[in-house]
Amino acid sequence: MALIVHKYGGTSVGNAERIRNVARRIAKWSRAGHQIVVVVSAMSGETNRLIALAKEVQPNPDPRELDVVASTGEQVTIGLLAMALKELGLKAKSYTGPQVHVLTDSAFTKARIVDIDEKKIRADLAVGTVVVVAGFQGADEHGNITTLGRGGSDTSAVALAAALKADECLIYTDVDGVYTTDPRIVPEARRLNTVTFEEMLEMASLGSKVLQIRSVEFAGKYKVKLRVLSSLTDADLPLAQEANSGTLITFEEDTQMEKAVISGIAFSRDEAKITLTRVPDRPGIAYKILGAIADANIDVDMIVQNISVEGTTDFSFTVHRNEYQKAMDVLESTVKGLIGAKQIVGDPKICKVSIVGIGMRSHVGVASLMFRTLSEEGINIQMISTSEIKTSVVVEDKYMELAVRALHKAFGLEQVPA
Ligand code: ADP
Ligand code: ASP
Ligand code: MG
Repeated sequence: MALIVHKYGGTSVGNAERIRNVARRIAKWSRAGHQIVVVVSAMSGETNRLIALAKEVQPNPDPRELDVVASTGEQVTIGLLAMALKELGLKAKSYTGPQVHVLTDSAFTKARIVDIDEKKIRADLAVGTVVVVAGFQGADEHGNITTLGRGGSDTSAVALAAALKADECLIYTDVDGVYTTDPRIVPEARRLNTVTFEEMLEMASLGSKVLQIRSVEFAGKYKVKLRVLSSLTDADLPLAQEANSGTLITFEEDTQMEKAVISGIAFSRDEAKITLTRVPDRPGIAYKILGAIADANIDVDMIVQNISVEGTTDFSFTVHRNEYQKAMDVLESTVKGLIGAKQIVGDPKICKVSIVGIGMRSHVGVASLMFRTLSEEGINIQMISTSEIKTSVVVEDKYMELAVRALHKAFGLEQVPA
């Protein structure tokens, strides 16, 4: 008997029939003798609808109240799934995040899980009850409802698996695993049987929405066995077959590793670029610019500054597109005069495309193949950043799909590595 956490995303619980199907799948696992905790998202489209509704009432919604509204989608699905399980003759009980003490900090709309009290869940599991928990939500120390950021149910599931020391956390979704890139953009994308934790962390942080980055961080920290698999297969698929399907996130680098130089391509339209032109090239300038941005609680991603020829230089960086206007305002109102920049030029029409793979450590020429491929497509590179296992470029956003497809082909990602 094992303790297993299942997580079902929005599409997987998108209507009553799908919820009944999820229940059948869970019943199969439960009847095989496993203890099951299920984390669910809101029905697909529901969180978007709730956020849009909030904005109709208050264009810039109060964060505390926005979380009160946005968290309700998950409360609907836990109740419905518990009902569907009972219909199948199982013992089941639904809980909101706060009801099982998912304690978070108070950063509304992007809260972090601090602690989970798993006693109540254990007591239910001990008497054979399937426990259904709402993803995406918790409460802070004052009892305020919080949410964990978009895609946060993945993190709820992995955090619960860590707290319960579960044998495995299965992330059921609308694709049958982690692919070399988003199969919606590149139909030839190939499913990976395994992907290393480090690669998954990069892919998630660089824009692959298949797992929320914090869920991968949790899995790494607590060594949670994590698998991504399809919720859309036949619910009666033999359990042994299902248990080995999808993509396993591994912590070892050499066992059964598919020997590719790069494992995947991630992309993101979520960023915007800001350039301050002709800033003086002297100590303290980067601090004045980025210090003001940090004081406004805005995260910065890529940064580029060159040496100066005539005592001034251009200074560029990227921020999340949601925070672009705020960053521009901070720069215009305080920084520009302070440092004597000539102009502040903002460009929200950019995207970031990244290649990821631990094979980059031992292969040279990987980045140069990336740059050659983009140049052959006539795509101008605006910024570059690298780490040991990734190379990212910023390009004009109209080229995003072209860049991803061209790179996927150039690196031969559609082929199974020898
Ligand atoms: P869920 O609602 O189950 O959480 P998401 O929409 O959040 O599902 O994540 C699954 C989606 O992630 C897929 O439908 C796919 O379009 C997208 N995706 C992006 N990159 C990848 C990738 N590398 N592999 C698989 N899916 C990806
Ligand atoms: N329902 C939330 C969202 O749409 C959380 C999730 O789906 O993981 O972002
Ligand atoms: Mg998701």
